[in-house]
Amino acid sequence: MRTTTTEHVDVVVVGAGLSGIGAACHLQRRCPDRSYLILEARDRIGGTWDLFRYPGIRSDSDMHTLGYSFSPWEDTKAIADGPAILRYIRDTAQRHRVLEKVRTGHRVVSAEWSSEAAGWTVDVRRADTGEVSRLSCAFLLMCSGYYRYDRGYTPEFAGTDRFAGPVVHPQQWPEDLDYAGKRVVVIGSGATAVTLVPAMAQTAAHVTMLQRSPSYVVSVPSEDGVAQRLRRRLPPMAAYHAVRWKNVALMTLSYQLSRRRPRLMKALIRRGAQRQLPDGYDVDVHFKPGYNPWDQRLCIVPDGDLFAALSQGAASIVTDQIDTFTERGLTLRSGRELEADVIVTATGLALLALGGVALAVDGESVRLPEKVTYKGMMLSGIPNLAFTVGYTNASWTLKADLTAEYFCRLLNHMRRRGYDRFVPAGEDLELTREPLINLASGYVLRSVDEFPAQGPKRPWRVHQNYALDVLDFRLGKVEDGVMRFSRRRPEPIPPW
Ligand SMILES: Cc1cc2nc3c(=O)[nH]c(=O)nc-3n(C[C@H](O)[C@H](O)[C@H](O)COP(=O)(O)OP(=O)(O)OC[C@H]3O[C@@H](n4cnc5c(N)ncnc54)[C@H](O)[C@@H]3O)c2cc1C
Repeated sequence: MRTTTTEHVDVVVVGAGLSGIGAACHLQRRCPDRSYLILEARDRIGGTWDLFRYPGIRSDSDMHTLGYSFSPWEDTKAIADGPAILRYIRDTAQRHRVLEKVRTGHRVVSAEWSSEAAGWTVDVRRADTGEVSRLSCAFLLMCSGYYRYDRGYTPEFAGTDRFAGPVVHPQQWPEDLDYAGKRVVVIGSGATAVTLVPAMAQTAAHVTMLQRSPSYVVSVPSEDGVAQRLRRRLPPMAAYHAVRWKNVALMTLSYQLSRRRPRLMKALIRRGAQRQLPDGYDVDVHFKPGYNPWDQRLCIVPDGDLFAALSQGAASIVTDQIDTFTERGLTLRSGRELEADVIVTATGLALLALGGVALAVDGESVRLPEKVTYKGMMLSGIPNLAFTVGYTNASWTLKADLTAEYFCRLLNHMRRRGYDRFVPAGEDLELTREPLINLASGYVLRSVDEFPAQGPKRPWRVHQNYALDVLDFRLGKVEDGVMRFSRRRPEPIPPW
């Protein structure tokens, strides 16, 4: 069923997660003359931090960089749990009065650009009635995350229907799952697995983390002593920004060291794990990946909670491969049997570009893999559209904030010059395309071909470097010779 409406706003923001709420706050503060709406497919705001409900759900970034630049994180915990992050997003939305602009239960299904009208027509499906309505806007700001919401990724395992107990994916955690006193196997070795294992080990009889291959696991303090001292001495915003830059510097240092001196970094990570595990623990079997640090994301464990659970015997790691599920658990390739009452498949996300929205420009469908990203936030040849994707080697929000800031800067520039259209125009991009996401993780490799590519150099390259991006996004020229601006009709020439 379709009803056509004539509603028009300047900006449609797609998604009311961490990025969409942040972008709306930036728009409200920096572009008060522009009207906007946030369309959110789900019934609630918060995105990732509302969707995921598994035990122990938390950030693995520190909240001084995962928080917004304009909204100080004031909790004592620097590594925060999911509910605290959700509260922070909600409070920020409320304080900045963006909640009234959110329409929940509104999924954007398609958007078509018309050069003649210099605008987008957006089709939106309501969750309650299934009705599709249409609205128009001058600019689309996609804050729709990077993965499917309806399901996670689970590989095909033999014999899953034989297993008598529950098999649970962390993305769809049953509220009433009772695992107290039970034997749990968590399949996976990524951020979710290392979060789940110590959390479930608190009440389960035993938790086994079954991994095909190890990850780098690094312990960080859950509270930041420097932040606490600075808070006592400085105004909240000054303390927040000082800690934010301190953490950016540490993250950059750790990343650069990993890329330039991988052997040193491997040795440091190994020593850190060894120090927190019992003597004789087989660190090289369970904590020594076959790749260099930051070829895939490092796994962070606050206050070494995973190592503590392993040391206490409440949890253990098995590095092996699944042969088949059985009635009583799992049989492994080595022939070993793992008995389980509950099996958790922490096997990852199913990636999805731009919220699955079907884009078209002047009647022609857009094929995302053919596009190249401009500043990691716009697409070659696509007018008046920006999207938010965070860093792979640092907190998401650092880039999300810069993206929103730059978007506002662009809009204000266009207002001053009387432009109504921007389009990143690339030449020779065909020859030099590279994958957009520079991680070798399975979940990335599975889907990266469905995403736009990046080019060989700025502005087509995504540099994964916050400090350089700050200079570029805040001080770089908006009219850089690549971004083309135009207006639909020439300004009327005054008669005098
Ligand atoms: C378990 C987990 C832990 C994480 N921890 C960290 C961390 O510690 N540090 C870090 O930097 N990153 C982390 N990430 C990445 C994380 O997703 C980002 O930090 C951040 O939450 C992304 O926010 P977002 O608003 O861009 O996307 P999301 O949180 O995914 O929100 C997107 C929103 O858009 C909506 N949407 C999507 N498509 C449409 C559509 N077509 N129409 C309307 N609405 C739509 C969705 O319903 C959702 O509400 C984590 C991810 C996961 C899954």
